[in-house]
Amino acid sequence: MTDPTGRVAIVTGAARGIGAATARRLAADGFAVAVLDLDESTAKETVNGIVAAGGRVLAVGADVSDAGQVEAAVARVAAELGAPTVLVNNAGVTRDNLLFKMTDADWDTVLNVHLRGAFLMSRAVQRHMVAASWGRIVNLSSTSALGNRGQANYSAAKAGLQGFTKTLAIELGRFGITVNSIAPGFIQTDMTRATAQRVGQDWERFVADRVAQIPVARAGVPADIAHAVSFFVSDGAGFVSGQVLYVAGGPRA
Ligand code: NAD
Repeated sequence: MTDPTGRVAIVTGAARGIGAATARRLAADGFAVAVLDLDESTAKETVNGIVAAGGRVLAVGADVSDAGQVEAAVARVAAELGAPTVLVNNAGVTRDNLLFKMTDADWDTVLNVHLRGAFLMSRAVQRHMVAASWGRIVNLSSTSALGNRGQANYSAAKAGLQGFTKTLAIELGRFGITVNSIAPGFIQTDMTRATAQRVGQDWERFVADRVAQIPVARAGVPADIAHAVSFFVSDGAGFVSGQVLYVAGGPRA
């Protein structure tokens, strides 16, 4: 196995939740990590933790759905940390509503952040991967890709990311680049806390209801997903590409 020291990873939406845990894990694995989120100052908390643990890290503010900001962010990472050859497309939002109440803005926001964001980031970063003849892209899908009431926008985006993953795997494989997707089940983060609030359920009750449906009988935590990312971006996973790994405490697919 090659030591990842010197390799540079970008994790989007890394100010908190799954992205923050993934940034910390990749830094511990030896990658230099760009912690990208909407607001550079919110990324600072993740950055400080990584610095304290002895990692090399950079906070970058950018909206992944904005082509100009994405190009500028990737250029800044390349200049300040080195050419990025690992990309984790994790940034995400929800705008849940039943179809008859879903607004155009609910639809566009979710599709723009998840799908357009992953497209813009991957297009900008792949040139560094091609130049290095090595790269790893991991896209965050969801069990919601299989259908989830109130999430027509989100499930369409997350299912779309699975097709996007498989196509990039076919196009980029010859350059030493693998592209895979992780579909988490229920993970305790601010995103799921907001869902509990929206449906007016007490958090403890909301968690217990979900855990009752999970074969391993516990809720997921961000580190569960970070662990799977760590595998996909490792050298040893170089023959695994175009896959969707459900990390949900049970099959779900
Ligand atoms: P979270 O809401 O805690 O964190 C998401 C982060 O993305 C935030 O820091 C936010 O600022 C950032 N972000 C949002 N829009 C952005 C944009 N346009 N540009 C840059 N950054 C942006 O969410 P989380 O629970 O940690 O989820 C992370 C990913 O995992 C998301 O893609 C989500 O859809 C997916 N996921 C989460 C769960 C879960 O149960 N939590 C389950 C399946 C999939």
